[in-house]
Amino acid sequence: MSDANLTALLRLQDADMRKKDMEARLQLLPKEMDALIARRDKLNSEIVKAADAVKQEELAIKKRENEIAQLTDKSQKLQQQSALVKKNNEYQAMLAEIADNKFRIGEIEEELLERFDKLEQLKSDAEKIRKQNALAMRSTRSEFEELLEFSKSVKAEIAQLDAGRPKLLAGIPDDLLSTYSRLLKGKDGSAPVAKLDNGCCGNCHMRVTTQTVNELSKGKLESCDNCQHLLYMDGE
Ligand SMILES: [Zn+2]
Repeated sequence: MSDANLTALLRLQDADMRKKDMEARLQLLPKEMDALIARRDKLNSEIVKAADAVKQEELAIKKRENEIAQLTDKSQKLQQQSALVKKNNEYQAMLAEIADNKFRIGEIEEELLERFDKLEQLKSDAEKIRKQNALAMRSTRSEFEELLEFSKSVKAEIAQLDAGRPKLLAGIPDDLLSTYSRLLKGKDGSAPVAKLDNGCCGNCHMRVTTQTVNELSKGKLESCDNCQHLLYMDGE
């Protein structure tokens, strides 16, 4: 096995492993993008929720204010009617109703004071959340755009690796190439060609036989007895 074969094989392997890396990275992208979309949706729904709480409180206040207006109106009418009433018990009943209304209005006004405080708090919370989340949403968006850009550049690099592959195959003997290709398709995703490391296979780390070491020392490529990966020995 000549050095030229080894060099060519390692060059091919570099390109193939790089492509595997890129493909693995591409496979993770949809999940990362979905996570960013989910984050954006959550941030947005927090803004909507806070704004909705303000709206609900404003509606509740409006309702109480209407109630006061109705009671006031009713009392005014009773006041006018009472002037025309002849019977004392009817007159007393009207005064009692007016007093009831006044009491109820007092209760509502107290409630309103609390509600106005609450409304102020809700408004300031909503504004804080809106600002914070808008900022976080902007950074989420730019992360998303970065991923899109990254995806484009990875795809371009894969296309480039594919285009350059035939040239890398040239000169590698068929039998060697078929062994290499079989190993490349292995489930563990490891590199087919490994360096002998201190008498051990650089892939599976098992010690190889003396016979294999002897062959390797002659500059030959040999298969690991354990994992069948192609082994070579460094020149030094
Ligand atoms: Zn091995």
